[in-house]
Amino acid sequence: MLKIDPRRLVQRFDRLFRRSDQPFRFVPKGTKPPITIKPATDAALLQRLADPDVIQTLAFNTRSTKWEGPLEPDTAKFMRAFLKALHKRGLPFYVVWAFRKQKDQQAAFKAGASRAQWGESPHNFGYAIDVIHFRKLYDLTNAEWVLIAAIGYEVARKLNIKVRWGGDWDGDGDIYDNRLYDPAHWEIADWRERVAASK
Ligand SMILES: [Zn+2]
Repeated sequence: MLKIDPRRLVQRFDRLFRRSDQPFRFVPKGTKPPITIKPATDAALLQRLADPDVIQTLAFNTRSTKWEGPLEPDTAKFMRAFLKALHKRGLPFYVVWAFRKQKDQQAAFKAGASRAQWGESPHNFGYAIDVIHFRKLYDLTNAEWVLIAAIGYEVARKLNIKVRWGGDWDGDGDIYDNRLYDPAHWEIADWRERVAASK
């Protein structure tokens, strides 16, 4: 097995993290193949994304715990179950953003990494998470994102939590009709109502 120097890996991660915090693609990659969201049955695709060994490493766990709370209970419940479902399949995904405080939201807005100002994003209220791959970060193919989405939807359905995926905002199963393609993003579907009700 490869010997890992955790310090170096974390430094490398910090560089990648900064580089990956780029403006969103506003359309999915490439031309329009017929991709629909279906159960995660594509073993070859899963195989390509899987890396069960890395999930046990300090580097992975360091990165996995980098985000800060607080999260609303349903968000936390969904996040834990989603990560568990991914890790069970050997898929090294982690939460890169969860709660986003005012300073970070304004920085993300300025950098073009978010279209939302403070108070306009579910991340500011603990109702959203961004989930990315340990090595590929945001750089997954459409088919790979759709596979991950299928796992997320399945987890949410089992928990009876209504979620919205940033790769298909209107939930019609078409990833090509988005104004904003943000496939790392998951939010509680009725977060606006919940925020309004708590005021
Ligand atoms: Zn997000």
